[in-house]
Amino acid sequence: MDKLNLFEYAQKQLDDCAEILKLDSDIHAVLRVPVRELHISLPVRMDDGKIKVFEGFRVQYNDARGPTKGGIRFHPEETVDTVRALAAWMTWKCALLNLPLGGAKGGVICNPKEMSKGELERLCREYATRVWHFVGPERDIPAPDVYTTPQMMAWMMDEYSKIAGRHQFGVITGKPISLGGSAGRGDATARGGLYTIREAAKELGMDLKGATVAVQGYGNAGSFAAILARSLFGCKIVAITDSRGGIYNDYGLDPEAVFEHKTKTGSVVGYPNTTPISNEEILELDVDILIPAAMENVITKNNASKIKAKIVGELANGPTAPEADDILYKNGVHLIPDFLCNAGGVTVSYFEMVQNFYMYYWDEEQVHIRLDKKMTPAYHSVLETSKKYGINMRQAAYVVAVERVVEAMRDRGWV
Ligand code: GLU
Repeated sequence: MDKLNLFEYAQKQLDDCAEILKLDSDIHAVLRVPVRELHISLPVRMDDGKIKVFEGFRVQYNDARGPTKGGIRFHPEETVDTVRALAAWMTWKCALLNLPLGGAKGGVICNPKEMSKGELERLCREYATRVWHFVGPERDIPAPDVYTTPQMMAWMMDEYSKIAGRHQFGVITGKPISLGGSAGRGDATARGGLYTIREAAKELGMDLKGATVAVQGYGNAGSFAAILARSLFGCKIVAITDSRGGIYNDYGLDPEAVFEHKTKTGSVVGYPNTTPISNEEILELDVDILIPAAMENVITKNNASKIKAKIVGELANGPTAPEADDILYKNGVHLIPDFLCNAGGVTVSYFEMVQNFYMYYWDEEQVHIRLDKKMTPAYHSVLETSKKYGINMRQAAYVVAVERVVEAMRDRGWV
């Protein structure tokens, strides 16, 4: 795997866009770097009685369009540059979906898989304590991301509310329903992605009923994507992987049963009547739709020419390296770029904020309808821009998003 700094990816993508838009060099310089970042040490009493000091970050990339928004990742290989890149993508994502929000991201270097529930709770509360003056419902609103859960959001909201001395449901999204979470937030990333895949299939004249699908990654996004692709559209899920390996069956898998197997055993591996498949092999399968829903940087210049899928729906953040984009585009692969395809999560997070402010909650059906009304026009604005300028879908998504951020910066008189 190419080991490139993810923030360099994000900057390179922005540089491409600046060239397409002939962006003023002052504005380009402002957009290339985050506006603010916080680096914190997080001392946590571990179960063995000793204190372990974790390292954490919160990066606010651009807040021209409103308070910043973005998840918190708990990952052993977290770096500040990864968080910067993801904060930049959140900025473009919120602008593309026309949400009145800027972009941010948080991260802690830790391995939640090796920590007890008590240790995780203490780490979450410590994170909230250390960032409390930096975040807030009108400043910066975190959410779940890789290896963070609604329960963790609840602990952070609780800690923040205690410090603030009042109920502050709106400080964080992706909370449990009992604490101001939104109906439909759980599967929102996958559902939003599938709405864009539905539109892409229409564009390509592809019948989704029986279309073959491979899903890399079986966490929140990947598992709901497989389940909904089958239940909403009748797709055939032929391959699924997770961090430990993968499974393949030409006749199709039952994604809900695979999810149960993973819940019991910790992995999709070993699901009955399947042949093993690796995380590299799954990308090169001859399927109609490929959904990378795991980590960044998996489609690179080394394997891009071997991708046979007609549609690649990027549910993960940053799965495709910049040089791979050109190869996919030349080969006619219809790519739905990450900050469009996976924007359903933050869109329903925004709905959650709105409901928290109103103290009035919508039912799941309303959330689905409103999500579709956000995702579908966003997809078409990218598609039209791609056709108009003769550029790939990622470049087109950048053009739409960057123009909106620049407009807000101009209207504020920043540039
Ligand atoms: N972590 C998700 C993302 O990358 C959701 C962020 C949010 O809900 O604020 O879009």
